[in-house]
Amino acid sequence: MQRSLHSPKSSHTMERLPGVLLFFLAIFFSTTQAYEPLINHQIHLLRPKSGAGGSSVPGVSCLSWRLGVEVRNIINWKTVPAQCESYVGHYMLGHQYRKDSKAVTDVAWLYAKSLNLTKDGKNVWVFDIDETTLSNLPYYARHGFGTEVYNSTSFNEWVLEGTAPALPESLQLYKKLLKLGVKVVFITGRGEDQRSVTITNLKNVGYHTWEKLVLKGSAYSGKTSYVYKSAEREKLEKSGFRIIGNIGDQWSDILGTSVGNRTFKLPDPLYYIS
Ligand SMILES: [Mg+2]
Repeated sequence: MQRSLHSPKSSHTMERLPGVLLFFLAIFFSTTQAYEPLINHQIHLLRPKSGAGGSSVPGVSCLSWRLGVEVRNIINWKTVPAQCESYVGHYMLGHQYRKDSKAVTDVAWLYAKSLNLTKDGKNVWVFDIDETTLSNLPYYARHGFGTEVYNSTSFNEWVLEGTAPALPESLQLYKKLLKLGVKVVFITGRGEDQRSVTITNLKNVGYHTWEKLVLKGSAYSGKTSYVYKSAEREKLEKSGFRIIGNIGDQWSDILGTSVGNRTFKLPDPLYYIS
């Protein structure tokens, strides 16, 4: 095994052939995809790019990096690798981010509608906000797609504009869950000082109702999102709610205690929150 992996001049060409074929097939499919009609991008008005197919050979290692991020092999990272800016930009603005998001919310919905829910008003679904309910892609598109070090001043200015679009797939899931009789609880790392603008933003893009909107209060100052969100979910359960589902873009949204009966991880190669 190691021989063919680590010896590029190996004479075992046949052993390596399937990998080579797969590589070219991947290139082929990602290239042909670029000529499909573009999905109507509701989440931003930026010029759509053509999925991850826009990057060439260096993009392969960026794909590996993104996979490492999504499966939580790579943690505590501060910025997207500089050489992956174009790759991540194409991913986020192209087809694949939307397809990956839909794959998540589709299974979430299949799960939700399979449940035989009691009608006592105690079933809740926890939604994170940033990169789950709302998308900050217009901001990140202007700031190097995560390659720039996080700047709280400029990011908060953006949040205070209150113009973040909905992530369309999450909005659809939200609407279907409400119809099913499930209550929605938002738990966000946004601070209490951003409550008003967050409410306005949520309502403007289609999230009209919820059971609770939990923002990070001063009691959690200096605490990780993991600790804060676990504690808030525990409070929910102690007050009698059943968390039947929980969706977020960060692992810290869905790890910890009282995570819910099932958790769903949306893609986010832009930033890492512990
Ligand atoms: Mg988030």
